[in-house]
Amino acid sequence: MSDPGVSLKELEDRPLTDLHGVGEQTSASLSKVGIDTILDLISYYPRRYIDRSKEATVDSLQSGEEGMVLVNIEKVRSRRMRSRKTLVEVTASDATGSLKLVFFNQPWREKQLNQGRDAVVFGKADIYQGQLQMTNPIVDLVGDRTGRIVAVYPQSGVAKLHSWDVDRLVAEALRRVMKVRGFADPVPSEILKKYRLVDRSAAYKGIHRPDSMSEVSEARRRLVFDELFRIQLELLQRKKIIEKTSIGIDHSNEENLTEPFLRKLSFELTDSQRRVMDEISKDLQKEIPMHRLLQGDVGSGKTIIAVFTLLKAVQGGHQGALMAPTEVLAEQHYLGISKLLGDLIVEDSTTLLGDRPVQVDILTNRTSSVDRKRITRGLEDGTVDFIIGTHSLIQESVSFNSLGAVVIDEQHRFGVEQRASLKEKNRDGRVPDVLVMTATPIPRTAAMTVYGDLDVSVLDELPPGRIPIVTRWEADDAIVWEAVKEEVNSGRQAYVVCPLIEDSEKLQVHSAEEVYKGLSEGPLKDFQLGLLHGRLDKENKEETMNSFRSGKIDVLVATTVIEVGVDVHNASIMVILDAARFGMAQLHQLRGRVGRGEHPSQCFLVGDATTKEAEERIKAMVRTTDGFELAEVDLELRGEGTVMGERQKGRNDLRLASLRRDKEWVEIARTEASEIVMERDLASIKELAEEVTLFLGESEADYLLKS
Ligand code: ADP
Ligand code: MG
Repeated sequence: MSDPGVSLKELEDRPLTDLHGVGEQTSASLSKVGIDTILDLISYYPRRYIDRSKEATVDSLQSGEEGMVLVNIEKVRSRRMRSRKTLVEVTASDATGSLKLVFFNQPWREKQLNQGRDAVVFGKADIYQGQLQMTNPIVDLVGDRTGRIVAVYPQSGVAKLHSWDVDRLVAEALRRVMKVRGFADPVPSEILKKYRLVDRSAAYKGIHRPDSMSEVSEARRRLVFDELFRIQLELLQRKKIIEKTSIGIDHSNEENLTEPFLRKLSFELTDSQRRVMDEISKDLQKEIPMHRLLQGDVGSGKTIIAVFTLLKAVQGGHQGALMAPTEVLAEQHYLGISKLLGDLIVEDSTTLLGDRPVQVDILTNRTSSVDRKRITRGLEDGTVDFIIGTHSLIQESVSFNSLGAVVIDEQHRFGVEQRASLKEKNRDGRVPDVLVMTATPIPRTAAMTVYGDLDVSVLDELPPGRIPIVTRWEADDAIVWEAVKEEVNSGRQAYVVCPLIEDSEKLQVHSAEEVYKGLSEGPLKDFQLGLLHGRLDKENKEETMNSFRSGKIDVLVATTVIEVGVDVHNASIMVILDAARFGMAQLHQLRGRVGRGEHPSQCFLVGDATTKEAEERIKAMVRTTDGFELAEVDLELRGEGTVMGERQKGRNDLRLASLRRDKEWVEIARTEASEIVMERDLASIKELAEEVTLFLGESEADYLLKS
């Protein structure tokens, strides 16, 4: 190989003060925007580009429309208005005409916009007193860059950092790298060829100092690939290591529980359920611990899958644990699953007949101390086979005889650490098989990035016979209460979800109490109402839920405590007040509380949309009940933050890549990374392995994997 070139690691090790003209002060202000090393600097990408030859010229600005022009500052004038506010007026021009810029109450503009400077301005153009004008436009100072394309960097007032400062420093950094050896390129050249990706030197040059917009897009493709490729390499490598080093349990056994369990179900499994059970069975027959995510929409029948998985462990003489995020949900699972298991029998050589019924128990905060003692003892000696519970299951005092499989329901409700700790419950160090279930679908490519270390199963159909929920958006709630009355009068039940108040449970409870009072004295006074929120004590909560389940309560007024899992088939109407305040996933979950039985159901989203985004969200809810489709819309609306939030941190942020726009690159990165990790091993390409560690670090990588 010829001269290897400069690696990103080397650039990470170079301080900014290496650059000409960077002293302590500049260095400190760069640090405020997260630039501490030369690598940080060259990873600080332009926010946009101006093509001097093509961009709108002043003469092409249309009154009443937004536009962007590159102009030269000619004259700056500042004066006080009668209101004592400052008005800064600027005259600017390009070769085609002149434009007035007006800034209200931004006195600092006078100093910022020096005569002779070049600036890119973006705003709505108007004609005022016969003169073309922009009021409070966005301004980027670009300095006197020559070249056809001008890169505009994010600037920061706090850091006193201008686009042209970054521009100058980046240019110098790149010039230095090129002068020495150019960039090293650790990505195998076959991959670069296959996808027609430019080399790294061209990529960094092209993203920062392009000569044409097509150069920018070539550069972007390459850098996007690099970002996604590193993540996939890390995830797959880790997955491989875990599979190699941890010892799980082989659950090949006679189907003396799963078979009768499935046979006794009152319905036929869906094809999806069958397929997923198959996938899980295959995992369970290996000694490698299962690490699988089950995505399935609300009502798609995940509980059956959970029970099946846990019974597989129980029938081999091990134990199964189902962890739910709330007491309400745990209780509900306990009731439902006890019924499903009926009188299934397990072998037990210590009993007279050599067998006994499967022992199912529930452990939560409200388990009495007598029961708690019995249950924890049973978990320790193996006489409790099937345990359902909340966070209580991961307390230190709980240990198992032989925990064979764990199912975690609604995994997004649990912290990463909490999920990891159930895996360490076996005294002999054997790792149980783990299935995490979520009813908040995320798009496939996003799942690949966020949960790339897990295998993924999808339940993509609902059991037959479900009647689609009709969703309506109503600004006025009077109509809604009429609909509720009608439903309740015909024997059904209703939920009313109170407005969400972020960050304040107290206010939330208060608002729920108000709604409850208002409805029981007003439009719904003839009915039996119940109130459920997080501050009620456990007995109260339990009693209310029981009364609702048994039909004693007609209308349940609640906060989002009912978001997951609550399963009352007779409830056929859902009212969500102030719906604009809820996120897409929450709305979808809440709506999923109805439409679970044989009755046609309705969902009312009440109130005005406060933002454009809220409006789009509500419209999507009205249009479809498909969770995967909604997840796509949500990703469109809110960007990566939605899915990356918990798992992606720090260095590993996607800077250029977008899980929305770059779907095909996610797939490509996955395929190529898998090829390298499985066929060759990452360590065999030393430079690449080094770079992955550089970006994902030990601790961040660990964090990504503790799911
Ligand atoms: P979720 O995926 O939301 O957890 P559940 O497991 O609670 O869904 O299932 C919702 C309802 O559908 C339950 O009442 C369950 O008994 C029923 N169910 C599950 N699978 C089927 C099926 N294949 N056919 C008919 N009903 C089913
Ligand atoms: Mg469920």
